[in-house]
Amino acid sequence: MKAVRFVESGHPAEIVDIKAPTPGPGEVVIKVAGAGVCHSDLHVLDHDMGLPGPFTLGHENAGWISALGDGVTGWKEGDAVAVYGPWGCGRCHTCQTSMENYCENHASLGTMGGGLGSDGGMAEYMRIPSPRLLVSLQGLDPIAAAPLSDAALTPYHAIKAALPMLTPEATVLVVGIGGLGHMAVQILRAMTSAQLIAADIDDDKLAHAKKLGAAHTVNTGDPKKALEAIRDLTGPRGITVALDFVGAQPTIDLCVQVVGRNSRLYVVGLAGGVVNYEANNPPYGCQVMVPYWGSRTELMEVIALAAADHIRADVETFPLEQAVEVYQRLRDGKIHGRAVLLP
Ligand code: NAD
Ligand code: ZN
Ligand code: ZN
Repeated sequence: MKAVRFVESGHPAEIVDIKAPTPGPGEVVIKVAGAGVCHSDLHVLDHDMGLPGPFTLGHENAGWISALGDGVTGWKEGDAVAVYGPWGCGRCHTCQTSMENYCENHASLGTMGGGLGSDGGMAEYMRIPSPRLLVSLQGLDPIAAAPLSDAALTPYHAIKAALPMLTPEATVLVVGIGGLGHMAVQILRAMTSAQLIAADIDDDKLAHAKKLGAAHTVNTGDPKKALEAIRDLTGPRGITVALDFVGAQPTIDLCVQVVGRNSRLYVVGLAGGVVNYEANNPPYGCQVMVPYWGSRTELMEVIALAAADHIRADVETFPLEQAVEVYQRLRDGKIHGRAVLLP
């Protein structure tokens, strides 16, 4: 089968022929319907994230079960599933609560999951080490559902924890309206009535946010003007919850300057920015969070939200063979919503 492989950082992804996997005892193989193209792959490909290659990329996957290993019960061939991405040990206290994204044994596992150390979904078939990592798609189309397992799950995990703060007179800021950000806007619209400001450097992305329900949009190309525009909208209270889906120095600096007292700043993007602290800056009472992905049960909740038609990934589909070109389009900021590769 054809697979999109990570070889080493600084080296472009390669499309090669590899042997299709077969399930060992307790494992499952799925036929991949769609593999989402996440910006994290660019960090892995372009910078050293400490992941030893080679492995098949694609950590945002959905498809149909094609083979069950010995001892796997409760599933059957043809079942449509999303693959939960951050694979933990499955045994520690945190994994047992379904938060494998914060597995206590992550450092000794040697992999962060399929597509991030182990073979992922940018191939015709993918091996899943345990059926606990599968979630039923509840009738959703597996191609459109692929981005739910990361582009939606990651913002959902952050937003869910902030729900008590997202009251009707609060203001929430979403920075970066790409794969994750366009899902965050929809999740916020579905679950809260807080005033929503969307920020990006690209006016097309801002128009997209507006279409999805953002009350206000701010182009952050000129950080000084953006700061003034956001402060005009919030008044002295400031932003109550800021979600930074870029994580670069300019976006973190902007968020630190616009959050109010008793607020929360989520740094989700991995662009390498630093949160500096001096007294009252970020302001007193501000909680800085560094969320990572989401839990298995939260993926079930995200799928329920999509099955009830409250959220929907805007996907651009491409054949698997175009992976290298699609990564370049993502690097150039030319993907609307989420790109999904079709093996
Ligand atoms: P994306 O490329 O689809 O979207 C990024 C968006 O940010 C684009 O709309 C782009 O125009 C905008 N942008 C870029 N620079 C900007 C700036 N200076 N100011 C404002 N907007 C700017 O990326 P994505 O797949 O949504 O991923 C976003 C980030 O989140 C990446 O860094 C990715 O690695 C990270 N990520 C983190 C987690 C986690 O669990 N912490 C999970 C998934 C992805
Ligand atoms: Zn990702
Ligand atoms: Zn664990």
